[in-house]
Amino acid sequence: MEIQVSQKFASIPPSATLAIDSKYKEMKKAGEDVIGFGAGEPDFDTPEHIRESAIHAINTGVTKYTPASGTIEIKDAVVRKFKRENGLEYTRENIVVSNGAKHSLMNAFGVLLNPGDEVILPAPYWVSYYDMIRLNDGVPVILTTTEEKDFKFNVDDLNAVFTEKTKALVLNTPSNPTGMVYTDDELKAIADWAVEKGVYVISDEIYEHLVYDGSRPHSIASFGEEIREQTIIVNGVSKTFAMTGWRIGYLAATAKLAKAISNVQSHATSNPNSIAQAATITALDGPMDGVEEMKKAFCERRNYMVERINQMDGVSCRKPQGAFYVMMNIKALIGKKIAGTVIQGSEDFARVFLDEFKVAVVPCVSFGAEGFVRWSYATSMENIERGLDRLEQLLATKED
Ligand code: PMP
Ligand code: GLU
Repeated sequence: MEIQVSQKFASIPPSATLAIDSKYKEMKKAGEDVIGFGAGEPDFDTPEHIRESAIHAINTGVTKYTPASGTIEIKDAVVRKFKRENGLEYTRENIVVSNGAKHSLMNAFGVLLNPGDEVILPAPYWVSYYDMIRLNDGVPVILTTTEEKDFKFNVDDLNAVFTEKTKALVLNTPSNPTGMVYTDDELKAIADWAVEKGVYVISDEIYEHLVYDGSRPHSIASFGEEIREQTIIVNGVSKTFAMTGWRIGYLAATAKLAKAISNVQSHATSNPNSIAQAATITALDGPMDGVEEMKKAFCERRNYMVERINQMDGVSCRKPQGAFYVMMNIKALIGKKIAGTVIQGSEDFARVFLDEFKVAVVPCVSFGAEGFVRWSYATSMENIERGLDRLEQLLATKED
């Protein structure tokens, strides 16, 4: 019998960010002098007090099943976090804790979408939103933003793509991959539009603490009761506390939506890891010094990377305000020969950069933004210096 993959699964490509990261890791394991700017993952260790609390959890028997949507204690810690940091009042019934923010996002699309429902997805977008919408039978409707307008959209742009099938809007601020941060006035206008049109907002706030210029953004859900009801906030500990491998994400939604998600999760995955839940309570309730330290380092790295890129001939970038990514414009290189290869787009550029110069970056064609590649600066300054030296070497091979 010929083994058949379902049409739905067969139509889904691997995550480009994780694919680049595994290729980089394979090359590194094989002893190659490769430098990784692919996956966005803090290069810092999880802070010690959080690690200690996980060890304590193991040693005190916190090793059993918990309620599928998370323990009472973690939900209360998440409720406290929303109150303290975002001024938002939720109760336990609004919270679902899952296996990473990726899982929370899958749940959010799953609970909102019926077949054929449209979701407005501003591009450049983080790669997984597109396929998550499709996996949940929705239709991603791309709203293209431009570098000239700081990769941001406004109400006119939303009206241009709105149809009677529009069910939800994806909002990711600070943004992966652009690093742009929406201001309160911009968020208020988007919130008013969503309320007027009856569109849900899936607000991915996973980079909320990584903002370098100006103050931490407000959550769109904080602009009034109606928008709060229509918003599903997704967040997690991966980026803020350097806990990518622990796999804890969470969402806040109306009690009705949260209950439906919790029911599905009870069949699909059961509870997220009990030990990681215990560590997350310590992370959320504990000191933020580790975050401040990471933020300071990221800010220095960002400044250095942006300055050097913009000194080079043939590439350029905007200064991102948050997250830890730089979108580098390579449009001037398209059609040119680099290291003997004619560059047709961002995939060619990324391949040549990795194969010939041993530097891993992500082609932004996977983010709905051809003509750009993404660097993650969540890596050491030494790596950043060496990576940019190699970019200079690559550019020196350019033939017209
Ligand atoms: N949202 C965005 C914008 C991200 O960049 C990531 C990175 N992985 C996630 C969600 C998912 O994070 P995690 O599943 O590690 O919590
Ligand atoms: N979110 C990170 C990135 O964009 C980690 C990899 C992933 O989950 O996609 O690189």
